[in-house]
Amino acid sequence: MDISNKNSINIQDAKTTVIGFGRSGEGASRLAQHFGASVFISDGKTDTKMKSRAQQLEAEGIDVELGGHSDQIYDAELWIISPGIAQDSPIVIEAKSKHIPVVSEIEFASWFTQAPIIGVTGSNGKTTTVNILYEMCKTDRLSPALAGNVGTAFSDTVLNDVINPPSNRVYVLEISSFQMEQIIHFKPFISVFLNITPDHLDRYPTLDEYIQAKLNMINNQDENDHIIYNEDDPILCKKFNVVLPDRHAFSLAGTGETMFTMNATKIYDEAHATLIQLDQLALPGRHNLANALAAATAARLMGVPNSRITQAMSSFTGVPHRLERVMELNGVTYYNDSKATNVDAVKVALDSFENDIHLILGGKDKGGEFSQLLPHAQNKVKEIVAYGQAAEMISTALGDAVKLECVSSLRDAIEICHLRAVSGDIVLLSPGCASFDQFNNFEERGDTFKSILTEMVAS
Ligand code: ADP
Repeated sequence: MDISNKNSINIQDAKTTVIGFGRSGEGASRLAQHFGASVFISDGKTDTKMKSRAQQLEAEGIDVELGGHSDQIYDAELWIISPGIAQDSPIVIEAKSKHIPVVSEIEFASWFTQAPIIGVTGSNGKTTTVNILYEMCKTDRLSPALAGNVGTAFSDTVLNDVINPPSNRVYVLEISSFQMEQIIHFKPFISVFLNITPDHLDRYPTLDEYIQAKLNMINNQDENDHIIYNEDDPILCKKFNVVLPDRHAFSLAGTGETMFTMNATKIYDEAHATLIQLDQLALPGRHNLANALAAATAARLMGVPNSRITQAMSSFTGVPHRLERVMELNGVTYYNDSKATNVDAVKVALDSFENDIHLILGGKDKGGEFSQLLPHAQNKVKEIVAYGQAAEMISTALGDAVKLECVSSLRDAIEICHLRAVSGDIVLLSPGCASFDQFNNFEERGDTFKSILTEMVAS
């Protein structure tokens, strides 16, 4: 199938294989079917939930195979792959060798809309930033939709809009590097780059390949589009020194080259009008200030008035599992930062607190350098409790410099912290690792943390 010209792509009756039966695979299948494709979903895994979702799709006329890939996957004119499938996986290589076009779900969904897209990417802060930006864009003139990595598949949102076209739609998309791997025509009106630090080095052989995947987001942007980037990030600064479309920096350093500038007490715009006093910001931590500045810059480019930007900044209190204050128990405050799945996110969590911290690290290692935590932990972290698969590795990296104990489960880690913490201390779950050794995802890990704490209160 020829997909070289976006405007002439026609998937009517096209045999379409969707690899991966997650949320985005399911969304892409329905969208493809709506436009007349003959859809076949294939997933290497299977479980009871997937089976019952598969039954539902079968009833809608979409074929599904679970628990392995048969050769039927190659009987296709188009492949749509889920973010979990790496571009160098054997089946993708095989499909490409058979000249089947392979696209990501984000790319596919973008074929069916003309509405402006704001794509937000970065190693950390994406979810927080898209949520605050979404709030900022809720105005009389804009009807924002939040989608992508953030929960609702872009395909689902696009399909709803195709069926019931809204006016003034703008898509605010959280974009991971995985979703940018198979991009052909995807063209955001605004692409936002928050930061780039080593992450997912289990999937990318080098940091450069990880960076390159994220930078695919600007491939199709032209002089009418915009790039927003973090001027305080050395990698992004270097990359965007020369890049063409309209560039806008944001910075915590107050360089004056930015749309919004910050001093010790407030944020102001180019006309020196005050946007917000810093003590009015609802989100804690300097990293969240950077996220808010990125969102404000994008909102302004969409024509959102300062008053609305200010209102969103002062009322948005954050997203669960990101430095989420869970409770205070016997004077000890417990924070759930389960989403901190890499070392950099742990650094910013530590930088957000002054007090004595009992830090819970651990889970499935993603290749992070835990020793980099030392400068951020000094004089703040009373002890580290490391659990799960990465515990030994964490102990090797940090055990000589900080009091550290290894345990097997998250429950054990919480119990130890609960026993040792005294009034005024902080217990911080900011694991710096993926959750998959003991949990299905970071949400389940964070929810478990909260429910163990609730049990403790009750006992
Ligand atoms: P993402 O969607 O990119 O994973 P989140 O907003 O979910 O980002 O935050 C993930 C983790 O990163 C949380 O632990 C959060 O406290 C931390 N974090 C948020 N914003 C930033 C930032 N700008 N720089 C570094 N870490 C951040």
